[in-house]
Amino acid sequence: NHNLILKINVVPYAGNQHLLLARDTTQLHRLEQIRRDFIANVSHELRTPLTVLAGFIETLRDDEDECTQQWERPLLLMAQQSARMRNLIEDLLLLSRLESDTTIGSTGPVRVAEMLHTICEEARILSGEQAHRITLLADENLVLEGRREELRSAFSNLIFNAVRYTPAQGDITVRWYQDEKGMHFEVSDTGEGIAPEHLPRLAERFYRVDVGRSRQQGGTGLGLAIVKHVLLRHQGQLHIDSILGQGSTFRCDFPLPINNETENDLNTEPI
Ligand code: ADP
Repeated sequence: NHNLILKINVVPYAGNQHLLLARDTTQLHRLEQIRRDFIANVSHELRTPLTVLAGFIETLRDDEDECTQQWERPLLLMAQQSARMRNLIEDLLLLSRLESDTTIGSTGPVRVAEMLHTICEEARILSGEQAHRITLLADENLVLEGRREELRSAFSNLIFNAVRYTPAQGDITVRWYQDEKGMHFEVSDTGEGIAPEHLPRLAERFYRVDVGRSRQQGGTGLGLAIVKHVLLRHQGQLHIDSILGQGSTFRCDFPLPINNETENDLNTEPI
C-alpha cells in the first residue's frame, strides 16, 4: 500500500509521435516533507522559551530600581535581539505553512486599499526620523479574492523592504490598480537598487545582496520567499525592475476576477 509520486513529461518524438517520460519522485517528496516538518517543529519549539526570555527582559527593563545605568544598554540589546529572533521564527513558521499546504483553502474578498492604508502608516512609524515620503495611490473599490493575512504579509514585506533599502527622505510610492491585463500591486522606491545578477535569486530563502545591511535593518532574509509563495497561491506573479543606485519597483500581478473575464468574453463573442 504505497503511493507513488510520478513526474510525467511529454516530449516530441519522430514525426507527430510523442514520448511519455515518467520519473519516480516519491523519495524526493518524502525528503522534502521531512525537511519542512523539521523546520516547522524547530521553529515551534523555539517559540515558547523565547517568549519566556523576552518576558523577563521586559520586566527587568520596566523595573527602574534594578535597571541601573550599567544594565540599561545590555537589556536594550537583549530586547532587540529577542525581537529579531521572534520575527525569524514567525517568518519560518509562515513559510513552512505556505510551502506544505499548496492548496489555498478558504478565501474571501480582501479590501486591499484599506489594508494598504494601515501598512503605510506602519511603514511611516518604521521610517521614523528617516522621514521617507510614502505615497499611496489605491483604487478604493478594487477587491482581491484571497487570504487576508497572507496578502498582508506579502504587501507589508515589500513596503517595509522599500523603507529599509531606501536612504532617508527617499520617495516610496505604493499603487493598487486594475488595467486590462489584471490587478496590480506595486511598490517603487528611490533606494539603493539591485544589480541585475542578483535578481534571479532574490526570492530564495536567506538570499541577500548584503547580509550585514539586511541584519542591521532587521530583515530576516525570508521576506521575498514569503512574497513568492503567497503569490503562487493567489495565481499572482512577481516582477522586479531595478537600477543600481536609482531605485527598484516590485510589482505583483493578479489575474482579473472570473466574472470580469466572462463579461469580456461575452462582449467579444461574434453574434
Ligand atoms: P531581507 O529580510 O534581507 O530584506 P528579503 O527576502 O525581503 O530579505 O529580501 C532579500 C534581499 O533583497 C534583501 O536582503 C536586499 O538585499 C534585497 N532587497 C529587497 N528589497 C529591496 C529594495 N526595495 N531595494 C533594494 N534591495 C532590496
